Amino acid sequence: MDMNSKIAALLRDFAAIQKSKQSMWGYKRAAAAILALEEPIESLLQPDGTLRKIPNIGPSSSRVILEILQTGTSPTVESAIAGSGQKSDIDRRNDLRGHFLSRAQVLAALRNKKLQGPTLADYRGDLQMHSTWSDGTQTLEAIVEAGVERGYEFCGVTDHSYGLPIARGVSMHKLFEQHRAIDTLNARYKGRFRLIKGIEANIRADGSVDMEPQELRQLELVVAAPHSALRITTDQTKRMVATVKTRGVHILGHPRGRKYGARPGVTADWDRVFEAATKTGVAIEIDGDPSRQDLDYHVAKRAVEAGCLFALDSDAHSTAELRYAETAIAHARLAGVPKDRVINCWPLEKLLAWLESRRA
Ligand SMILES: [Zn+2]
Repeated sequence: MDMNSKIAALLRDFAAIQKSKQSMWGYKRAAAAILALEEPIESLLQPDGTLRKIPNIGPSSSRVILEILQTGTSPTVESAIAGSGQKSDIDRRNDLRGHFLSRAQVLAALRNKKLQGPTLADYRGDLQMHSTWSDGTQTLEAIVEAGVERGYEFCGVTDHSYGLPIARGVSMHKLFEQHRAIDTLNARYKGRFRLIKGIEANIRADGSVDMEPQELRQLELVVAAPHSALRITTDQTKRMVATVKTRGVHILGHPRGRKYGARPGVTADWDRVFEAATKTGVAIEIDGDPSRQDLDYHVAKRAVEAGCLFALDSDAHSTAELRYAETAIAHARLAGVPKDRVINCWPLEKLLAWLESRRA
């Protein structure tokens, strides 16, 4: 196992059993810092056995990290967990950390020439992100500028639909206003960059999406994603199959809805969902938000075998998070997704024609 991931998991476990909020946050911050490291932590070990300074990692986290580097585990954390009476809860959280990549692993997968699949250079644009129109902090203009800077040709703006008020879902009225703003930007950047008018619609319990067909028709790109029933273990194959059969849906977004160490997401016979998606032509998303990584490469391999199309997206809520697309690309490379099956790697005209042909 990747040492950065292993250490971060133990620090998160340690955080979970702290009595004071302050130390809980201290260990959580340290875990996040390790997951965000660009290199394997072993490379930060100095000849005198100490660690090079890492921002956000205090002395007590450093002690735990050194224990793990020296012995493979942390007696401090192990005995604290054993005495906490929370062992089963800790084990449950650990089961929810499978196939997550640390930032160092993401960068290694992007560099690894032996892997098949899309490279950063093949990637022409990002198709799931949120702006100030819903729960994001990036303006449309900032998205265009950041997209151009990243060498993209397009970005899909997919704010939340009105059915998800908790994420400040946009009303249809607001959406039309947003479309006018997008038109203005597209006119200004004509030939250089294209914003695509999208939405992240919410998948209901029966698999339908929370927008009317005539509303979906107003959009160029519809991402349908689950935001409810993500902690139950009942089979939801029927729900997900119904979604990929819904006219007007282009992408099945963060298909499982899992969260790192917190929830398992949708339980389903994914092979059947992928088979249905291949038939209807809906692209399966790899969501690159580090806390989601959904699908991960392990499950994505099965979607490759089923013949699915893929969308590799950042799910960014700020321009700094646009780099989360790299996490999605890394998973696609580890899964061996052929690049011609990744809609983000298609030329803009081909992508727009495909989006139009599938409009509700
Ligand atoms: Zn979502």
